[in-house]
Amino acid sequence: MNAEIIAVGSELLLGQIANTNAQYISARLAESGINVYRHSVIGDNDKRLQKELEAAENRSDLIILTGGLGPTKDDLTKETAARHLGCSLCYDEKSLNAIEQYYVQTGISMTENNKKQALVLEGSHVLFNFHGMAPGMIKQTATSTYILLPGPPREMKPMLTEQVLPYLNDQNEENSLIYSKVMRFFGIGEADLETRIEDLLDGQTNPTIAPLAEDGEVTLRITANSHDIKIAETLVHDMVKILEDRVGEYCYGFDQDNLQQKASRLFTEKGLTISSAESLTGGLFSAEAAAIPGASSYLSGSMTVYNSEAKVNVLGVPREMIREFGPVSQECAESMAEQVRHKFGSDIGISFTGVAGPGDFEGIPEGTVWFGVSLKNGLVSSFKLTLKGDRNFKRIRAVKHGFYAIIQLIEK
Ligand code: ATP
Ligand code: MG
Repeated sequence: MNAEIIAVGSELLLGQIANTNAQYISARLAESGINVYRHSVIGDNDKRLQKELEAAENRSDLIILTGGLGPTKDDLTKETAARHLGCSLCYDEKSLNAIEQYYVQTGISMTENNKKQALVLEGSHVLFNFHGMAPGMIKQTATSTYILLPGPPREMKPMLTEQVLPYLNDQNEENSLIYSKVMRFFGIGEADLETRIEDLLDGQTNPTIAPLAEDGEVTLRITANSHDIKIAETLVHDMVKILEDRVGEYCYGFDQDNLQQKASRLFTEKGLTISSAESLTGGLFSAEAAAIPGASSYLSGSMTVYNSEAKVNVLGVPREMIREFGPVSQECAESMAEQVRHKFGSDIGISFTGVAGPGDFEGIPEGTVWFGVSLKNGLVSSFKLTLKGDRNFKRIRAVKHGFYAIIQLIEK
C-alpha cells in the first residue's frame, strides 16, 4: 500500500506549530507495514487543498488528511474533500446527538457552526470522536481510501490507533502480519555502523532494516511481514543474529531499553551499589540513575563537586594532584571515582570532569571530558571523550558514555 499524509492548517505553514501529527501517523503506519511516501502541508485554502487532493489521488492508494474538521470558517477539509469526490455531506446522527448533549449539559447555547462538526462525507465509515466533537471518516473510492482525522493530537491519536489501524488491518486482504525488533547501539556512529552492514542494507526486502540516529545512539529497526506471525518472527530473529555477529559488540539492548535501564538491571541482578562524583555533569548521572524505579537498591548517593576547592575539601582529591595535573585530567577523574566510592562505601564509584564551554579552560580544549570508574576489586579505569555541541548536550553525552562504560565493565 502506497500512502501519503496531508496536514491541513495555515498555523503549520506559519511555523506556529510543528507537524507532529504527520510524524505520529507515519510511525504508526510504519509499524503496521504501510509505506508512507509523502508528507505535505496545505494552508486553510480551498483551492490549494483541492489541487493537492487531485495530485494525491494519482499517486497514492491511501490518503490521510489531518486538521480542519472543526466548526470554524477556516475548517474546510470535509467540504473540499466532498467537492473533490463529488459526494455530499450529511449529518452523522450519533455525533450530532453527542454534540447536542454537550450543549444541553453545559448550558451553553449551541450555534449552527457547532452542528457543522457532525457533517460527514456521504457513504463514509464514521470514526466517532471519543475525545472531542468532530468525527473522523474513512471514504473508499474505486482507486483510493481517504481518511479524514481531526487536528488536535489528543483527538487524532486515539482515533488512529483504536479505529483506523484495526480498520486498515481488516481491509488488508493478504492479512499480512508485522513483527519488528529494534536493536540499540552505543559507541558507534551511524555512518560507521551503516558501512559495516552495507551489503545487508542494500539487499533488504523482508525483513527490512531501518537505521536511525538519535541522541548519540543508533538504532536498527528490523521488520518482517508474513501471513504467519511465527514466520515473521523467525525472519527477524535470524537477521538479528546476523547483525549481532557483525556489530554485536556495540549493541547494548533491544526495543524500549535504554542505557540507564540496562545498567540498573545489571546492578540489581549482581547486587551492586554505585555512587557518583560529578563536576561537569552537576548531578545529572545520579538524577538519571534515580529516575529508574527501584534505584534505592543500588544508588548509594552522589556528590556534586564543581570547583577545585570542593574536589579537595569535600571529596578529598589531593590538592597537589590537582595542582600538578589540573581538575580536568585522567588523574583527577580517577581520584574522584575512588574517593566517592570510599566515601559512600559502594561497589562502584564513577566520576565526571570536563570542559563544557563555551571556550577552553586553563589550556584544555572545550569538549574535553574525563570520566573514571573505580571498582571494589581495586581496578580503576578512565576514559577520555572529546564532545561537540552545547553545554547540555555534552553533559548528557558524558552521562550516557558513563552508563555504557559501566555496563561493559560489569558484563566483562
Ligand atoms: P478543532 O475542532 O480544534 O478546530 P480541527 O480538526 O479543525 O480541530 P485544526 O483547527 O486544523 O483541527 O487544528 C486544531 C489544533 O490542533 C491546532 O491549533 C493544533 O494545536 C493542533 N494541530 C492541528 N494540526 C496539527 C498537526 N498536523 N500536528 C500537530 N498538531 C496539530
Ligand atoms: Mg479547527
